[in-house]
Amino acid sequence: MKKIFRYALAVVLILYFIATLLVSPILDKQMNLVEYNDPRVLGDEAKELYSSLEFIADLHCDALLWDRDLTKRLDYAHLDFPRMRQAKMSLQAFTIVTKSPKGQNFKSNSADAFDKITMLNFVQGRFPDKWFSLYKRAEYQARALQNYQGKNDSKFILVKSRQDLKNLINLKIADPEVIGGFLGIEGAHCLEGKLENLQKIYYEGVRMLAPTHFFDNEIGGSAHGLSGEGLTDFGGEVIHEMNRLGIIIDLAHVSPKMIDDILDISNKPVLVSHTGVKGTKDSPRNISDRHIKRIAATGGLIGIGFFKGAIKGEIKDIVEAMKYVRDLVGIEHVALGSDFDGAATTPIDVTGLPFIVQELMDQGFSEVEIRAIMGENVKRFLMEQLP
Ligand SMILES: [Zn+2]
Repeated sequence: MKKIFRYALAVVLILYFIATLLVSPILDKQMNLVEYNDPRVLGDEAKELYSSLEFIADLHCDALLWDRDLTKRLDYAHLDFPRMRQAKMSLQAFTIVTKSPKGQNFKSNSADAFDKITMLNFVQGRFPDKWFSLYKRAEYQARALQNYQGKNDSKFILVKSRQDLKNLINLKIADPEVIGGFLGIEGAHCLEGKLENLQKIYYEGVRMLAPTHFFDNEIGGSAHGLSGEGLTDFGGEVIHEMNRLGIIIDLAHVSPKMIDDILDISNKPVLVSHTGVKGTKDSPRNISDRHIKRIAATGGLIGIGFFKGAIKGEIKDIVEAMKYVRDLVGIEHVALGSDFDGAATTPIDVTGLPFIVQELMDQGFSEVEIRAIMGENVKRFLMEQLP
């Protein structure tokens, strides 16, 4: 009997081990798709302008969620270091996701719904502390990105300060293979209700944080939660501490009421890392004119997402949303906020960024405006906001 039990246990462990190798790439392939129906032509002028861009930056990507070696080129999903280099990117925000409710949607999600990330961490074979602790999941992903610097990729720079950003810019002039990343978080539930975890995650390199993701948490209401509530007392403390530490406030996924509450008390510029605008697509995922104006008034940025939900689906829709923000508050507030690898379907992977430039040209944006959107706005913002 004992022997049978041992064999059974061995079989289960072997199957689990195989699952840890296979399941995450399968999900990754199925969930991070590139899909388009629009005809694509890249003219010489767009090519030339693209190759002359000095700083290309994007405010949102969830590549750390999946089991990947980012130094290896994949033939699926949206982003890895080789493809960033092909796209001549300077800086990518890598955002950390720690909990995702089953049946996730843009209208209403319960914090108590079955959490898909628990299952994902389990099948990825990540150590059991990540099965139970949201903070540990965040720490793990932050360290995963840290580890690329130096150890796994000598030309990757983790940007945590103004000085790091200056280094990145200077090194890239000498060597185009140099790329940078900076760390953000989607949902402050990973603080597990403790302010000291905000300080801890700051020391892990996190420089941007969105208070909520798809459900309400200790900070306040999500745009896709149940309560629609604003900032809690604890949430207020978190905002003050983020201002003090120099962690950028990201209003993506935050309830409309909480956007106002945060803007009432924050003494720093804020951004929305990945969003659409209600003016071109009326969705609970997207941001209102009134909020775009309030965010712009702080000196903030609106990162336009490439995913269905934020936009209808094609490149022209991305650029229409950019145009809408420009016309409402000015070009200096528009940025790229792709949501690459965020379990999202997008019309391009990172190597398709030149098509955005083509479409910007087709829709009448000037060269200066295109440079601003493609990265100069993010560079200026981070130069002012990073510690
Ligand atoms: Zn998101």
